[in-house]
Amino acid sequence: MIMKYVTAIVFCLFLSIVSGKELTYNGDWSIESNKNSAVIGNVFDGNLETTWNSGTAQEVGDNIKINFNKEVLVYGLVLTVADQYSFPRAVEISASQDGKSWITLTSEKNYQKETPIRISAWNTLNFSFKSSIIKYLKISITESCGLPLKISGCSILGQDISDNIKTDRSVIIIPQSATPTIAFAAEELQKYLGRMGYFVMIHKTGKIDTSRYSDYVFRLGTGNAPGFGTDGYTIQNTGKDILVSGNSDMSVLYGTYTLLERLGVRWFCPYEEGESIPDSFLPRVLDKIDIAETPSFLARGFVEPYFWDTQKIMWCVRNKINSMGTNVGWNYLFLANPGIEKIGGKDYYYANAGWVWPNSHSFNYFIPTSKYFKDFPEYFPLIDGKRVGGDWQQVCTSNPEVIKIFKEKIFEYLSKNPSLKVVSVMPNDGALKWCECEKCRKLDGPDPKEISHCNQMCRLVTDRYLVLAREIAEEVKQKYPNVKIQIFAYSVFKAPPVYIKEMPDNVIMQICQYGEPAQIIGTVDENKYMLEWMQGWANIKGPSLSVYDYFLLREEHPELHTPLFFTEALFHKLKLYRNNLNVKYYQTQFAWSTQNENPLLFYSYVKALWNVEIDKNKFYNDFFSKYYGKASVPMGKYFRMMMERVKEKNILYVNNYNCPPPKDLYDAEIIPVIDKLFADANKLADKEFIVKQRIRRDWYAYQYAKKYLNLNQKDKSLVSSKNNKGLIIKQYLFYVADSLNSSMEGTW
Ligand SMILES: [Zn+2]
Repeated sequence: MIMKYVTAIVFCLFLSIVSGKELTYNGDWSIESNKNSAVIGNVFDGNLETTWNSGTAQEVGDNIKINFNKEVLVYGLVLTVADQYSFPRAVEISASQDGKSWITLTSEKNYQKETPIRISAWNTLNFSFKSSIIKYLKISITESCGLPLKISGCSILGQDISDNIKTDRSVIIIPQSATPTIAFAAEELQKYLGRMGYFVMIHKTGKIDTSRYSDYVFRLGTGNAPGFGTDGYTIQNTGKDILVSGNSDMSVLYGTYTLLERLGVRWFCPYEEGESIPDSFLPRVLDKIDIAETPSFLARGFVEPYFWDTQKIMWCVRNKINSMGTNVGWNYLFLANPGIEKIGGKDYYYANAGWVWPNSHSFNYFIPTSKYFKDFPEYFPLIDGKRVGGDWQQVCTSNPEVIKIFKEKIFEYLSKNPSLKVVSVMPNDGALKWCECEKCRKLDGPDPKEISHCNQMCRLVTDRYLVLAREIAEEVKQKYPNVKIQIFAYSVFKAPPVYIKEMPDNVIMQICQYGEPAQIIGTVDENKYMLEWMQGWANIKGPSLSVYDYFLLREEHPELHTPLFFTEALFHKLKLYRNNLNVKYYQTQFAWSTQNENPLLFYSYVKALWNVEIDKNKFYNDFFSKYYGKASVPMGKYFRMMMERVKEKNILYVNNYNCPPPKDLYDAEIIPVIDKLFADANKLADKEFIVKQRIRRDWYAYQYAKKYLNLNQKDKSLVSSKNNKGLIIKQYLFYVADSLNSSMEGTW
């Protein structure tokens, strides 16, 4: 058995300082490969420019073997492959105590649904396994491939065995009848304590003598906590008992993550490479723990069309995001996954306005043109004297038959989906022209406002839309008192209504922020009106307020270069929403594709959604010191400097798809300063390999901006495509991949 508990414990008050949470190679390991063994050291030298190449096509059984020549604690591995082609198709990682008998730690096959080998644009592959104490590690190929294997770096997550390793000094106790979620909370606590070299067992309540545990007895379970809602929790200690409790299973899981954060664990971005694990567990930290928390927003959500996987879901859960969605049916996959029982069960996500179709644009879902237009053209809008159909047309909202069908369809839908707690009544996307029949126009009032929208003058139709929604909501309230009707402030119904002053209290009004400047709301001319409009919506008596943002939408991702500017604006606006406008639900549309390239902004999001009163300075210090380690000072300086430049140059970022890196940000004066900060950071990172990788990602974002802006005269290819929406980020990623193949310029 590989997992071995260290029994000889030496008390050590002055813990040895272990750098980072990865093993450092100082020439003290014996490393070999069955192919091209002479240069295998290139993989472990902490230098991403030196690569080991297997030389021939990958064959089953090819391997890299490491003898640490001592016992080490390991729990994960991050491989950096040299290009986007020469990666292993299937890998087994095994361990041994004697170099003869091997035990599999993990086995992963690419494209497998649940445990894929994940290759980001950065060509990193993350593997994780149970914390184990071993002497030998082997990385083996288990599927052949016509291409050779090229690896430029390998980071082994873990630490040297030291006095920090502790075992059996604490225990985790959960109820006999623990639900899958509570059991999972215990497993997560066990797993991350194990990564700190602190091994504990999990017991279901029964006969257990707790006096044998010298440190703590962790007790996880639900209780009755008035005022803590569904997600709030308490963490308290009495003697050596540490109790994590809340009203729901998820509150206990959230409380467990908070406990781990108190111990120093962070989930900055998905996958092992985004975690920060302290070197050891210092029990006394918990002697006076007394935490009681409830979230700032009931729903805290991300909506991303495409790039979800299990690790990203887990990153959300660990950071207490409870509303996750997509528009390509991911939620069905997600909700059907048996693993969902471990993270609260599907009802939890339904109740938290999870993105369940037909959430969002639903007119066509309830009143499909294909079904009704032929026989009932009067259900559809009268435009220029003619009834007009089509999937994205609106409906004639004043037609009593239309209202009747809406209600029937919603009731039918709710009876088929009893877990559903939120239903959207939202116009179709795109169609700006609404019905011009006399009855509809009358609802807008005698003097309707018009606004310029998408380069045409449009009649504002908020009042007539709300008349429809009000009628539906009133009847839903009678029949389904626990169901909310979600409506939207968007497009030609974004301005608050003129006449309607009150709506039923089962209505959630979601204000969409498409096309707004990213600047703090109300601080620039371009978004002053939005503050007034939001206030107008907030003044309507009855409903709850929600915000649907597009804060991370920009495909060109200028926030890669100036994350602090966006983070500052974000902290400010979330506080304003919560404290001044009483917003209860928040979701933002964004792009996972660059999350691991830009963790600060995403991480700020999850923290501020939980607590808008976040202590900014403490937060930044924590992030920079843990994420950039020894390189935190120059990297902090770089990002602060870029933020100041956005302010100085009055750069306006807009929340929509097209927002290229601004030229004003970079000039001949600033470039050598940035170059120097990166060089300093790289030097300071020394052998902290994962930190080096993180800095390199930031450096590439900067290189990309320079190329994009044609500051580097050598490469004009990127500039020519700047009007191709959607291509930009792909080009950025390809640029990175290409650069990895060729020799690198500048700092690297
Ligand atoms: Zn009409």
